[in-house]
Amino acid sequence: MKIFLPGPTEVHPDVLAAMAQRQIGHRTPELHAVMRRIAPGLKRLFGTEGHVFVGTCSATGALEAAVRNVVPGRLLNLECGAWGRRFGDIAAANGIDVDRVRSPWGEANRPAELRAALKRARYDAVAVVWCETSTGVLNPLAEIAAVVQEHEDVLLLVDGVSALGALPVNVDQLGVDVLVAGVQKALAVPPGLALFSVSGAALSRAETVKNRGFYLDFLRHRAVADKDETPSTPSTAHLFALDAALARVAAEGMPARAARHEEMAAMCRQWARKRFALFCDEGVSSPTVTCIGNPRGSDIPAFLARVRDKGCQLGSGYGELKGKTFRVGHMGEHRPEDIEELIDVMDACL
Ligand SMILES: *Cc1c(COP(=O)(O)O)cnc(C)c1O
Repeated sequence: MKIFLPGPTEVHPDVLAAMAQRQIGHRTPELHAVMRRIAPGLKRLFGTEGHVFVGTCSATGALEAAVRNVVPGRLLNLECGAWGRRFGDIAAANGIDVDRVRSPWGEANRPAELRAALKRARYDAVAVVWCETSTGVLNPLAEIAAVVQEHEDVLLLVDGVSALGALPVNVDQLGVDVLVAGVQKALAVPPGLALFSVSGAALSRAETVKNRGFYLDFLRHRAVADKDETPSTPSTAHLFALDAALARVAAEGMPARAARHEEMAAMCRQWARKRFALFCDEGVSSPTVTCIGNPRGSDIPAFLARVRDKGCQLGSGYGELKGKTFRVGHMGEHRPEDIEELIDVMDACL
């Protein structure tokens, strides 16, 4: 079975082999050496001179840590799909007051609406999803960041779970205070780690916040970062895997990686337009996931089952879009040849 899900994604044999290495202690020179290799790779990936921390949990853990560490009172949450709504729900579950600015599903969040909302009330931070995996929309991160930058004391939290590793980014230049990623999407590592960059402003804010939680407290992570350690026992197997995956990213180079993802996305979009329909506008569609609409009311679950019988697993519609859409994840280790193969299979199953 080949998986074309919007996460988890296919993992390269080298990464799986790295993961299966002999176990070592986590407070040892051997693991410090792994951490010292990972750190610069992560800084390059996120585009930062600051800290990128690693948590042993799925990405959701770091999304929760972001709101807990940075938002003592009030959050402005941008939503254009299920993951945006979830980010706001995570904040609300932590006792934070959340105001939501919503775009229709299938559209991107609008910088002008953000600007207006920031004029109406005072917020500790803005939260946004970079690639909205439920609809296949890529939000205009640079424009959104520029609007947040107009307010010095408002920080920007970004869910980049299904974007990081496929798109170049420089969080320092953009002024992104916390960028959260998982590893099981465009980085093509088995699920189990969260990666999060934390700006100097976010660390200063954390110093003023009382209930930051414990496990992913930014200040506890900072305290051991110079020792190449994590505050509690990390999944060392995942660190080995991440080390190997970052080596693959470095060998390919981010420009080539981004171009490969664009090429695969273009192939999927062309197929979708011919056979079904694109759920979102071409202009806002993501290079990592394509959400496909169902204008003729075809039996999507039956189609996905036939494709699966031929060895390819696609993503079903997510949340409210279940049955109305399906999704192709084209990220991480996929190559254009894999997408060609998938398209042949999908055509045979229509
Ligand atoms: C997959 C995904 C998540 C959830 O990540 P977990 O690793 O399952 O916690 C969050 N946000 C987006 C945009 C995603 O695509």
